[in-house]
Amino acid sequence: MVHYKTNEEIELIRESSLLVAKTLAEVARHIKPGITTQHLDQVAETFIRDHGASPGFKGYHGFPYTLCISPNEVVVHGFPSKKELKEGDIVSVDCGVLKNGFYGDSAYTFAIGEISETLKRLLKVTHASLLLGIEQAVEGNSLGDISGTIQQYAEKAGFTVVRELVGHGLGRNLHEAPEVPNFGTKGKGLKLKEGLVIAIEPMINLGQRFVVQENDGWTIRTSDRKPSAHFEHSIAVRKGKADVLSSFQYIEEALKKNQNNSIIIR
Ligand code: MG
Ligand code: MG
Repeated sequence: MVHYKTNEEIELIRESSLLVAKTLAEVARHIKPGITTQHLDQVAETFIRDHGASPGFKGYHGFPYTLCISPNEVVVHGFPSKKELKEGDIVSVDCGVLKNGFYGDSAYTFAIGEISETLKRLLKVTHASLLLGIEQAVEGNSLGDISGTIQQYAEKAGFTVVRELVGHGLGRNLHEAPEVPNFGTKGKGLKLKEGLVIAIEPMINLGQRFVVQENDGWTIRTSDRKPSAHFEHSIAVRKGKADVLSSFQYIEEALKKNQNNSIIIR
C-alpha cells in the first residue's frame, strides 16, 4: 500500500535527507587516492551520530555498515573494506539516516583523481538521467514516465540499465511501496499524486545490464565486470515541480575544496 505523506512528514524526511547530503559531503572531504573505504564508513557513522541520528543502513536486514561503498564494477551494496581507493576509480557511496522516525536516502558516484573520458561520460549520463527522471515526478504523470525517461536517456547514450534493483518509496521505512524501476513505459503504472515520497536511483552500466551477487550475500556487481554508476535523490511529488529533499550541493562544495583528490563530473 502506498502511504502519501503530510507536509509535516515531508519536512521530517527533508531533515533526514539533508543530513544524508551533509554526510556525503563529509565523505567528499576525505575521499582521495590511498584512503580505505572503511575509513570513509567510520567518518560517516561518527558524523551521523554527532548529529543526533542513526545510520539508516546499519543493521537493516543485517547490513553491517553505515555506507554502501561500491567501486568500479560494484553496482550497489558494496561493503566498506581495508582496500584503498586509487586514481582512476569511480566509487558509488550510498547513505541512509534515520532521524525523528523518518529515513533519508541518497547516493553519489565519486571520481577518484583523474578518470577516463568514458567513465566521465558514464557519470554524466547517470546523473543527468536522475535529473530527467525527477522532472517527471509531478502530479498527474505516471511512475512509467519517470522509469521510461531514465531508460530512454541512458540507453540512447549507449549504456544499459540495471533491472534487478530499483528505487522505492520511503518514510517511516527505508523501503516502502511503490517500487520505482529505472526502466519502463511512459504513461504506465501508478498515477503520481502530491505527497508521494520516493527515492529515484538509476544504476547505469557501461557494458551489459546483467548483475550478479557476491558470496557475501550483499555486494552486487556487473556480470561482465565493467563499471557501473549510481546517483540517488529522495524526492516528494508535487504539482508542477518535484521537491528534491536530498541535495548534492554540499558534496559539490566539498569537492571544489578537495580538487586534487576528486572531481565534479558535469
Ligand atoms: Mg540509497
Ligand atoms: Mg535507495
